[in-house]
Amino acid sequence: MSNFSDADAAVVTAQLGRPARGVHAVGYRCVCGKPLVITTEPRLPNGTPFPTTYYLTAPRISSRIGTLEGNGVMRLMQDRLGTDPQLASDYRAAHDAYLADRAAIAAEGGFDVPEIEGISAGGMPDRVKCLHVLAGHALAAGPGVNPLGDETLALLGFDRAVCVCEGPWPWPEGSRELGLE
Ligand SMILES: [Zn+2]
Repeated sequence: MSNFSDADAAVVTAQLGRPARGVHAVGYRCVCGKPLVITTEPRLPNGTPFPTTYYLTAPRISSRIGTLEGNGVMRLMQDRLGTDPQLASDYRAAHDAYLADRAAIAAEGGFDVPEIEGISAGGMPDRVKCLHVLAGHALAAGPGVNPLGDETLALLGFDRAVCVCEGPWPWPEGSRELGLE
């Protein structure tokens, strides 16, 4: 049974500026209770395959991740995948976990989506193309599943115990600390 209530739907519509499509459940909630990640069905109601199973809806996190992306963090991560075998292995495991989660949702909903079989999101398993995707996965799956998603959240100073929805941004901007801007 989905945990996506009418109140959650209203919050997500406000976050995205449009209603979310194909919602399966809330993937991660802020400490205040608002959805920050939604879990989506692998095929949208209009028939389109949808590979981003964990979709980050939190606008303020998305905005700061956009800044990180603009500062070249993805290229640095991508380079490390080529030089750090442990990281590369862990990242491939994150890809496998992503696909397994999607398969479970597909089985529950009776979906068959061959168009995206074996394709995860965000560049996994060997590219880094979207930190929003990786962070959404890391939030929903918990620490230790997606290493580069965990890193992205750490760069933002993200703390699961602190609300990210209102008030001044509660954490220092990691990109400055890294000297990337
Ligand atoms: Zn909050």
